[in-house]
Amino acid sequence: MKKYSAFAVAREALRHHTGWQRAWRDAQPKKRYDVIIVGAGGHGLATAYYLGKNFGITNVAILEKGWLGGGNTGRNTTIIRSNYLQDPSAAIYEKARSLYETMSQDLNYNVMFSPRGVIMLAQTHHEVRGYQRTAHANALQGVQTEFIGPEKVKELVPIINIDGPRYPVLGGLWQRRGGTARHDAVAWGYARACSDMGMDVIQKCEVIGIRQENGKVTGVSTNRGDIDCDKLGMVVAGHSGHLADMAGFRLPIESVALQALVSEPIKPCMDVVVMANTVHGYMSQSDKGEMVIGGGTDGYNNYTQRGSFHHIEETVRALVETFPMVSRLKMLRQWGGIVDVTGDRSPILSKTPVEGVFVNCGWGTGGFKAIPGSGWAMAELMAKGRSPLTDAFGLNRFQEGRFIDESVAAGVAH
Ligand SMILES: Cc1cc2nc3c(=O)[nH]c(=O)nc-3n(C[C@H](O)[C@H](O)[C@H](O)COP(=O)(O)OP(=O)(O)OC[C@H]3O[C@@H](n4cnc5c(N)ncnc54)[C@H](O)[C@@H]3O)c2cc1C
Repeated sequence: MKKYSAFAVAREALRHHTGWQRAWRDAQPKKRYDVIIVGAGGHGLATAYYLGKNFGITNVAILEKGWLGGGNTGRNTTIIRSNYLQDPSAAIYEKARSLYETMSQDLNYNVMFSPRGVIMLAQTHHEVRGYQRTAHANALQGVQTEFIGPEKVKELVPIINIDGPRYPVLGGLWQRRGGTARHDAVAWGYARACSDMGMDVIQKCEVIGIRQENGKVTGVSTNRGDIDCDKLGMVVAGHSGHLADMAGFRLPIESVALQALVSEPIKPCMDVVVMANTVHGYMSQSDKGEMVIGGGTDGYNNYTQRGSFHHIEETVRALVETFPMVSRLKMLRQWGGIVDVTGDRSPILSKTPVEGVFVNCGWGTGGFKAIPGSGWAMAELMAKGRSPLTDAFGLNRFQEGRFIDESVAAGVAH
C-alpha cells in the first residue's frame, strides 16, 4: 500500500490524481480463515487490526452485512473522553483515548482527532458531588480531569447560558485532552490497514448462522456461502442478541434507537464539546461548521435506526435553554443508530459458552471513544485467551453480581 503523505498529495495533484490506489481490496470470501470477525464497525475492524499488528494473526476476514462503518460507527457524534468512574472502565477508555492521540500516524490515515476538551456540565448539587467524586477517582486512575466552576465554564464556552431557566450551570467536569475524531475515517483507516496486512474486509456478507461441533465453533453460514474458522468474534453492537441467538446463548443486553442531528453550518462559535446531562443534550461544532447535536435513547426497545420524534423535541429544548443562539439555527439532518445497552451500562468483552466464540458488545451510547482500546483488548483476549483490560468485562459478571456501574457516567452520556 502506498503511503499517504504531503508529498503524495502534491505528486497526485500534478498528475490529475490518476495514481491513487483503492484504499482497501474488494475481497471475496475464502473457504477458511483462522479468525472471522462479524461486523465491520470500528470495534470489529480495530480488533482485526490489533490481531495482526500485535499478534501477527493475519489470516482474518471481517464480514459486514452492509457497508463498512454503516452501523453506529458512522452514525455517532464522535465524542471521545475517558472520565469514567470505575477503575476497569477508566483503564480501557483511557487506553483508547491515548491510542487516539497517535492513531493518524499509526494508521497513516488522517482520523482528524481533535483533543479540544470535553465539559460535562453539573447543573444540580447532586451532579456537582458526583463529578467531584469522579475527578478524585480519575486522579487516582491517572486520568487527567478537573472539576471547574461556572466562571471557567463561561470562559471556555462564551455562548452558554450559565443561569439557565431551569438548571443553572454550577460547574463541570473538564477533560482537557478529550475531544472528537472523524468517525468514517476511523473505520476507513482501520480497514485500509487491515487490507494492507492481507486481511479480507468483505462487505454485503451477512452472517445467518453459526456452525459448531461438540460445543466448539467451526464456521459461519452467510448469504455468500459457508466459511470455516477456528475463532469467531461477534462485534455487531445492536445486533448482538441476534448473533448470540444463532450461536445458542442469550446476552443481557437491550437494543434501542439513539438519535442525533446537525444544524446548518455556521461560523466557528464553540471550540470545546459540551454535554448537559441533566437537561439532556450535548453539542460540538464540526470542522464544516455544523453544530453536531445528540440526544437520548428511545424509551422502548426497537430497531428503527431513526429515533422517535418526541426525543428530537426534548433534545432541541435542552439545547435551546443551554445555548439560546441555537433557537435561530435550521436543522439539516437527523438520524438514528441501534445501540446495545447492558444493565450496568458497561461493555461486554468476553468468551462465551461456545468454545472459540468471543463477544464484544454493550458499548451502548458511548462506544466510539473506546474503539482503539476495545480492539486492542479484544485482540489480546482472542489471541491469548485473556487480557487484563477485559478481565472485569466478562459475561460472568452478570451471574456473579460484579457489576461495573457506570450508569451515571454512561447512562445518558456519550
Ligand atoms: C446517534 C448516536 C450517537 C452516538 N454518540 C457517541 C459519541 O458521541 N461518543 C461515543 O463514544 N459513542 C457514541 N455512540 C455510540 C457508538 O457509535 C457505538 O458504541 C459504536 O460505534 C459501536 O461500534 P461497533 O463497531 O461496536 O458497532 P457498529 O458500528 O454498529 O458496527 C457493527 C456492524 O455489524 C454489522 N452487522 C450486524 N449484524 C451482522 C450480521 N449478521 N452479519 C454481518 N454484519 C453484521 C452492522 O451492519 C454494523 O456495520 C453514538 C451512537 C449513536 C447511534
